[in-house]
This record gives sequence, C-alpha cells and structure tokens, in this order.
Amino acid sequence: MTLKIPSIYRVFVILILISISAITQNINAQEACGTHESYLEMMKNDPVFRKKQELSKQQASARSNVQGIVTIPVVFHVVYNNADENVSDEQIYSQLEVLNEDFGNVITSPTMWHEVAANPEIEFCLATRDALGNASCGITRTYTDSTEFVIQTSIKDESTGGISGWPARQYMNIFICDIRNVRGYATFPDAEDSIDGIVIDYLSFGRGPEYVFDSPNYSSGRTGTHEVGHWLRLDHIWGDGNCDVDDGLTDTPNASGPNYGCNENAPACNNQSPGYAGPLICMVQNYMDYSDDDCMNLFTQDQVNLMRNNFDEQGSRVSILSSKGCDLPAENELYFALTFDEFPEDIRWELHDASNNIIASDGNFEPGNYDLNIPAPLANKTKTYTWDLPDGNYTLKFFDDFGDGFPDGSYEIKSIFGETVISGAGIPFDQSEMSVPFSVNNAKYRFLGTVGNDWYDPANWNRKGVPSKCYQGDLIIEKECMVEKLTIDQQRNLIIRNEARFTITG
Ligand SMILES: [Zn+2]
Repeated sequence: MTLKIPSIYRVFVILILISISAITQNINAQEACGTHESYLEMMKNDPVFRKKQELSKQQASARSNVQGIVTIPVVFHVVYNNADENVSDEQIYSQLEVLNEDFGNVITSPTMWHEVAANPEIEFCLATRDALGNASCGITRTYTDSTEFVIQTSIKDESTGGISGWPARQYMNIFICDIRNVRGYATFPDAEDSIDGIVIDYLSFGRGPEYVFDSPNYSSGRTGTHEVGHWLRLDHIWGDGNCDVDDGLTDTPNASGPNYGCNENAPACNNQSPGYAGPLICMVQNYMDYSDDDCMNLFTQDQVNLMRNNFDEQGSRVSILSSKGCDLPAENELYFALTFDEFPEDIRWELHDASNNIIASDGNFEPGNYDLNIPAPLANKTKTYTWDLPDGNYTLKFFDDFGDGFPDGSYEIKSIFGETVISGAGIPFDQSEMSVPFSVNNAKYRFLGTVGNDWYDPANWNRKGVPSKCYQGDLIIEKECMVEKLTIDQQRNLIIRNEARFTITG
C-alpha cells in the first residue's frame, strides 16, 4: 500500500522523521560500538585482510589446537586532555578484572544457552616491561591537546595528539580517551600493526560505583569485553545487518539488529543458520550484542573457537603466546635494538662470544620494491631482540652486503635497568663491515643502594627507570643476614634482582 500524502506534508513528515532519527542517535550517542565502521573500511580496501577474515570464518566451527589458558599481555594507554579523562590506576585494574572474569570465569549463562555457552580460557596480564625490556607498570599516560579522537587511527598517532601502541605482535594495546560518538572500537586480527588495538571511551571504561560513566547501563566494563571480542575476530551477534545477514556462526541465533536494554524474550529471525538448534529468541546475554552491561554474561562455543583459533600455529595472533610482556626480567638480560636505514635487506648482524662462536644472528630482511615505490617493511624502523648473556666479552658484528654501510641507521644495547651498554651509528658509508666489542658485567648494571630505609624509597627504585608504583605485592628483601619484608599490593609483581635478592611471596 502506498500512502498518498500531499507534497507539502511530505516535507513535514520527512522533517519529523529526521528529528526522530536525530533524537534516537542522541540517545545512542555513546551506546554504539565503532568497530564495524572501520572493519567495513578495511574489508573494502585491503584484499589480504578480506581474504583472511573469510577464511577464518569458515574455520569457526573447528576447535583450536591450543590447549589450556592463553595469556595476553596488556598495556593501557591513557591519553587525556583533562583530569577526568586521566582515569586512575584503580579504574584500569577494574577493567582488567572484568576482562579476566568474562574471558575465564565459570559460565553463568541462562539455562536456555547452557548447551552453547563456553569458557574462552583467556587471561590478561598487565605488562611488566615494554618491548625494549624496560620495566613498566603496563600503563602509559600522555597529555594531549586534542579534546576528542575520531574513530580510526588518530589516537594511535603522535602527530594527531595520540600515542603509538606497543608492538602489536607482543601486546594487546588498549587506549583510553575521549572518543565522543562511540563507547569503543577495535581492530580485527590482521589489521596493520600500527593501527592494531582497542579504544575505549573514558566514560565507558572500567567498573565501580566510584567512577563516572556516561550511562549506568554501561558501567560494568563490558564495553571492554565486547571490544576484546572484536580484537579476537568476533562479529556483532546480529551480523551488522537484517535477517539476511548473520554473524557466520551456527550456535548464535540470527537477529535482525542489535538489542538494547535486556529483553530476554526479544524474537530472533525465522531464517536461522543450518544446524542452529537453540530457541528462536535473541541471545541478548551475549557479549557481542549491544545489551546493557549487566545483562551480558556469555560467549558461545563457536565464538570461543573463533577467538582461540587466533592462537593456533598459523593463527593471526599466535606471536602473543611467545611475548615476554609479562615475564620478569632475568638478571642478565640485555636488549639489542637495531634501527635500519632505507635498505634493511643489505644488513646482517652476528653476535660472537669470546671464543668467536656465533651465538645469535639475524639478516635476510624483506626488501622493498623501489620500482613501485614500496619501501621495505623495516625501512627506517627499529627491530628489537632480547639476549640472555652471561658475564663475559662479546663482539657484535654488522655487515652490509651491498657495501655502502648504513650510517643513517643505529644500534643500542641496554641492560634490564634501561642503562645503555653500548650504542652508535650503523656501518660508515662505503664500508661493508663493522665490529663492536662490549663486555657484560651484570653487577655493573645493578642497583647499588644502601640497605635500610633507602630500599623502600621510591626515588631510589626510580633510578632504575622503574616507576615506583610498579612495585606491588609482598616482597622479601634479603641482603647478607638482613631480611626485610615490604608489602606492596598485588598485580604488578615485578622483581628486580639487585645486590639484594627480591622474592615475591603470596
Ligand atoms: Zn562492537
């Protein structure tokens, strides 16, 4: 049936519709998740990304080969313009706690979903060190002149007032800032490293009555859970379309759109995926819907498979499993950072011990295609390595197989305390080889404080480049016959072994 409306009234009707839609958008101003927008953009522009997404979806019903708990090192980047946006450490811990509950706790799904609800067995640890091995609290704080950040990359880019993430192959980066229009968004796996990560609006971040939220409906930290779901490749449960579009998973009911609030009887679509065996109601309790935070409580088995598949041998996020982001530094660890010039493919290095054995090396870096103006992936970038070297003498040898050196490049070796052991520019121009001798005497890089109250003085601990607030948990400090106990709270259990020995208890 076509409604006949005189044209003058049609304009009026359209205006009303526009206002209604504007009001609705206002109500939902902070409710939407922005992931799908950037996802569509990447699906359109990046064929490799598209191919990987399609392939992964096909494998969603296959269980991951990864056994046991998967641990993901997390770093939180707070980018603030005012005090409210500079969320506290405690608020950050509350978000981490929610993630650990939702991705690892006992399933509390409603009876009708018991069959399909599953435990992802994914754990999140606050990074104890950065990619260069510097001790860290797993939290960075950056003041910005930008008063809000548009979706996509601006928060991850210094030139637009943001901050670069830590290496995406080793860390899950969570940025907290003022995004305004959405509560959060995330990149799917296989996005470029430089934009990889999760962004959460500071007014929908964490959980707790003491914090300020945009809406009480989104004050239990589930924006974080939802976005981490995307980061591990989950789509919205309704598939971002009407009944003709599904999220590609068999055990989630096909829904015509997102659900808000918590209507446990919202009808699902009639055309369900082949093999779907659940009730014909929306799964509003799923973390990948838009329901209220306190309504959400489950991932399905297919969702869990899809997320855990990222950590299979060929999985997109498998490198996370070998991340040292939450490890405690070994006493004699050293970090080697090599910064390339434009031609990384010419460069090699070898580390020789005192008997001239090669104990570490790397080379054959991927070239660019200069005919097509495509730079090598590592051109002008820095690659980092971790070595565990006993005391002794060593020689670091650099080679430039093209014979023109790389004076624009540089190298640096640092101790676990962030002190430079050696550093310098790359091979001089027109030369093909350079040897740099150095010795490791770890005692030299240890903290030589005096025993007594000094040990507890954060200022002394800071001398190691370690923010004092990193030291939490019960520590026993021993030096000679002295044993002192220091209580600092849980979570950031970093140990630095110095002249005295530090042991975490409890
Ligand atoms: Zn979303």
